[in-house]
Amino acid sequence: MKIKDITNALEELAPLSYAEDFDNVGLLVGQFDTEVTGVLVTLDTLEAVVEEAIDKKCNLILSFHPIIFSGLKKLNGKNYVERVVIKAVQHNIAIYAIHTALDNSFSGVNAKICDVLGLKNRSILIPQNETLKQLTIDVPNEAKERVSKALIAVGASNIENRDARLVITFEKHLEKNMTNTLIALHPSEQIHYEITALSKSQERVGMGMIGEFKEAMPEKEFLTFVKTSMQTDCIRHSKKIGKSIKKVAVLGGSGSFAIEKAKNAGADAFVSSDFKYHEFYKAENQLLILDIGHYESEQFTKNLLVDYLTKKFTNFAVILSDTHTNPIYYL
Ligand SMILES: [Zn+2]
Repeated sequence: MKIKDITNALEELAPLSYAEDFDNVGLLVGQFDTEVTGVLVTLDTLEAVVEEAIDKKCNLILSFHPIIFSGLKKLNGKNYVERVVIKAVQHNIAIYAIHTALDNSFSGVNAKICDVLGLKNRSILIPQNETLKQLTIDVPNEAKERVSKALIAVGASNIENRDARLVITFEKHLEKNMTNTLIALHPSEQIHYEITALSKSQERVGMGMIGEFKEAMPEKEFLTFVKTSMQTDCIRHSKKIGKSIKKVAVLGGSGSFAIEKAKNAGADAFVSSDFKYHEFYKAENQLLILDIGHYESEQFTKNLLVDYLTKKFTNFAVILSDTHTNPIYYL
């Protein structure tokens, strides 16, 4: 089993094209054709995590956060990022980061928080825009049926037959499937097509999630419940709103940008992290904001990844890292 097989499986869960533009996801260190000896799953790739991977004979680290984020110009070990990369390369350890690709997945970070909290009837809080693309191509009538069938088989979501053309709609991460299939099947040697992004948003891809409890929970009980189930030592929250909590928005990691969205979606509470002082005012007595800690909000993502890969692969170990990587401590 090669690294490529693992990254292909991860792309089924969280296509890299779902990731935000500012992000740096995918195989950051290593080569796709390396044989996998084991996978170590972590939120952050620290030097201690690379050492753990060496000890546990895992040559692939699956990290939530990317250790290389804004680029490296020199590699001489002057900071922890460079030391991690040097150590990984020296010991033939590959590093794959999944980050916002998994944040935006319907079965990703926020689905896991919903699982832990027991929230049902889920939908995406901020659906991603331009995840759908449309390809227009001239196809001779006699080839249309054959080409359409092949495109549906590789994931086209809609095909319209317009005069001499086919207009194919697909999710953007499937673009290669579409173009490769067309190149293979189209009767002409040279093909010309046009691809445009559709501004329509995709309801199953995006940041944050909103769901609801089967039965509303008194506010105080809700706070304690979140503290216990999300295993956090500290919750900072806005002023209580004096009503019970049924509809809850969640967003793993830094979520202050989504307060208005949570309000507009009718959430009674918003569970996320990294809120600044003034941002708590934005609750405006309309919802309860909970800052449960960045690490704490994402920690169960590790279990999600271990469970996912363990179900898919049985011929090597997928191990949950036991290195402590949360940089924040509470008194
Ligand atoms: Zn994060």
